[in-house]
Amino acid sequence: MTSIRAGSATDVGMVRTNNEDLALVGDSLWAVADGMGGHAGGEVASRTAIDTLLGAFSNDPTTAGLEEAVRRANEVVWQKGISSTELRGMGTTITALGVVRADGGDRLALVNVGDSRAYLLHDGELSQLTEDHSLVEEWVRSGELSPEEATLHPQRHIVTRALGAGPEVDVDTILLAPALGDRVMLCSDGLTDEVGDSEIAEILAVLKDPQAAAADLVQAARDHGGNDNITVVVIDVQADGPAADGPGEVARARSQEPDHTAVGLIPAQGSAEAEQRATGDDEPPVAGRAGRRQGRIRRPGRRITLRVVVFCILMLAVIGGAVAAVGWFATRSYYVSLSGNHLAIYQGRPGGFLWFQPRLAVLTGVTTSNVLPSRLSDLRHGTEESSLDAAKHYVSNLKAEARSLPAAGTASAASTAPGAAPAAP
Ligand code: MG
Repeated sequence: MTSIRAGSATDVGMVRTNNEDLALVGDSLWAVADGMGGHAGGEVASRTAIDTLLGAFSNDPTTAGLEEAVRRANEVVWQKGISSTELRGMGTTITALGVVRADGGDRLALVNVGDSRAYLLHDGELSQLTEDHSLVEEWVRSGELSPEEATLHPQRHIVTRALGAGPEVDVDTILLAPALGDRVMLCSDGLTDEVGDSEIAEILAVLKDPQAAAADLVQAARDHGGNDNITVVVIDVQADGPAADGPGEVARARSQEPDHTAVGLIPAQGSAEAEQRATGDDEPPVAGRAGRRQGRIRRPGRRITLRVVVFCILMLAVIGGAVAAVGWFATRSYYVSLSGNHLAIYQGRPGGFLWFQPRLAVLTGVTTSNVLPSRLSDLRHGTEESSLDAAKHYVSNLKAEARSLPAAGTASAASTAPGAAPAAP
């Protein structure tokens, strides 16, 4: 006795202005498409792929039929892309789950192209069913990149397979015979880029209602930054439908709860709430009816992701470098000035620089009476030298200058720069 019950949510995210993702929630076919291609291209690609997939699969609801439906969707997206200047280069991922007849019973056929994903929650354990067709995932598989590095790699969004990228496409196919209580989740990378596997598993395990789980997963991705469109479809295999062939088999029965298994496409919407309206929900599912606050897992505000930590470290490094540069500039030079009636050498800039105040380095034995009166004005303001030795040399020269010119205060004496032409002691 099994039936399928599903829920979905899609959201534009916190950064993008349009939603190129598309979810399909049917009675025997569920899918997520993540369109790409600039301007309108992404939305057209995902819509075209889902429309074609649904039509082709309904004509041949078998594993081979589902694979062929994906190939047909690829052809249509490809043809549409090359026949229009505006749509040239568009493409889309596709991850779809369909009920098919196999081995004398109903099975779930999973097909995948691109980097949208399917996960299985079985006995509380989450496992990823699909392999990403992306550049970084290939590097991870070849050992060139760690999974942690892949999550932050700038090229992580480059897919190596997509519908519409060429006239033909390779399709990954998995045939599942899930047990009662199993839950399959389809999602775009807008979820998995933001939310870790452990949090996904927690939400899927705790929220029994598939619609509430899908909505909470989308909200979690928004809470973590929502840098991309986010789409989630949650499909439950449960034991409240009409008779099937035996335990673990899947009946192609529609759920008795139409709000979770509404047949049709979920159009791109600006929010999860708007998406829920698009399914025709007169009566919100359990979480919505009881209030999202009851249906959702409570999380302590925005969580700190690895990306945030790296960003903070980089910002601290930049700020630290700037502070060090200011400190170096403010303290690298010396100047000669007066401390009482003595000539003194200070480290720093005359008058200080920002929060760096000059520091007395040497209080010389030379007094104002030992130098020409014409030098006193410069000394009061401070005469800068590039090093401590240069500053000491300057003081010696001032003293020598005064000794060599007993007629202090003459114009010729004042015009001589003691640092440039030191007088003999
Ligand atoms: Mg995406």
